[in-house]
Amino acid sequence: MSMASRLLEVTDLNVEYSSRAGPVKALESVSLAVGRAETIGIVGESGSGKSSLGLSIMKLLPPNIHAFSGVVRLEGSDLTRLSENEFRRTVRWKKISMVFQGAMNSMNPVIRVGTQIAEPLFFDSSLSRHDAERVAKRNLRAVGLSDEVFRRYPHELSGGMKQRAVIAMALVTNPKLVLLDEPTSALDVSVQAQIMNLLKKLRTEMGLSILFISHDLALASELSEKIAVMYAGQIVEFGTNSDVLTHPLHPYTQLLLASAPRLTGGLSPGFIPGIPPDLVKPPAGCRFHPRCPYVFERCKNEDPLELVPDPGHSVRCWLHGEKE
Ligand code: ATP
Ligand code: SF4
Repeated sequence: MSMASRLLEVTDLNVEYSSRAGPVKALESVSLAVGRAETIGIVGESGSGKSSLGLSIMKLLPPNIHAFSGVVRLEGSDLTRLSENEFRRTVRWKKISMVFQGAMNSMNPVIRVGTQIAEPLFFDSSLSRHDAERVAKRNLRAVGLSDEVFRRYPHELSGGMKQRAVIAMALVTNPKLVLLDEPTSALDVSVQAQIMNLLKKLRTEMGLSILFISHDLALASELSEKIAVMYAGQIVEFGTNSDVLTHPLHPYTQLLLASAPRLTGGLSPGFIPGIPPDLVKPPAGCRFHPRCPYVFERCKNEDPLELVPDPGHSVRCWLHGEKE
């Protein structure tokens, strides 16, 4: 991918949280590039650092940050250098939006849905309240909800409708990039399918770039052109959908695939033997080594090389040599 076609570029992101047990190494040397109108799935089990990546990009990490380093570039300019004020004025909810995990259940119960959708527009002084409401209604229709939903309260909507409303909220300012953190996990399967179809439609119509964060590889691959697999705070494999699904290189990805019966008809869903590591004291060497069926001596002492953004199909594993 050429520099010019890159919308977002994350380079060598490291995030640690303070905790009573010591610093939690939530992200280590994470690098990723997102192209214009490109969807990338960020996949990994709970605690692998997916939300931390999203929150880092949105500059919304919790206050107990122990260490942060790395560069996040949007259209070439380094967002980590912007003050909170500048970031809020020019980037957050304007160029980059996020649908948080569980967002539909944290809508404000006493504010009408339409007002909540229009809210980001009220800060834009060039728009009258009337215009903001008009734009919000247009967005409601774009997510398949009628104008009449504008005046309802969140409890008057079904789960699927609420999820459509929070997507409308994230898109109301016409951002270039939207981060979706488990956007369908609270919904039943048929509603989940409707939301996935909606996201496909919106992506095409709006030319959106999407980071689709999910523990579900099958789901992420439905929408994404590329997949980044995360394990214990690192991206361990990155490639196009078909590379990752048909030639998974990292043993963890292979196990994830085997535990996604919808894709392979394989093992029982979601079961990978062993437990995720403690990120206060991550295993030496390859972080996956205590669970890896192919572990050998080198894995226990030396961390496989980092992945660099967008080199094609790449993997962080000693089975695959020095570099892919
Ligand atoms: P999930 O799907 O469960 O949200 P995730 O893949 O999004 O998981 P993160 O939420 O980014 O993972 O968490 C990465 C690691 O950081 C985990 O070990 C988690 O326990 C830890 N962590 C997250 N937030 C904090 C915090 N505010 N303070 C301390 N540790 C945290
Ligand atoms: Fe397994 Fe070694 Fe590869 Fe880690 S580096 S995934 S332990 S083979």
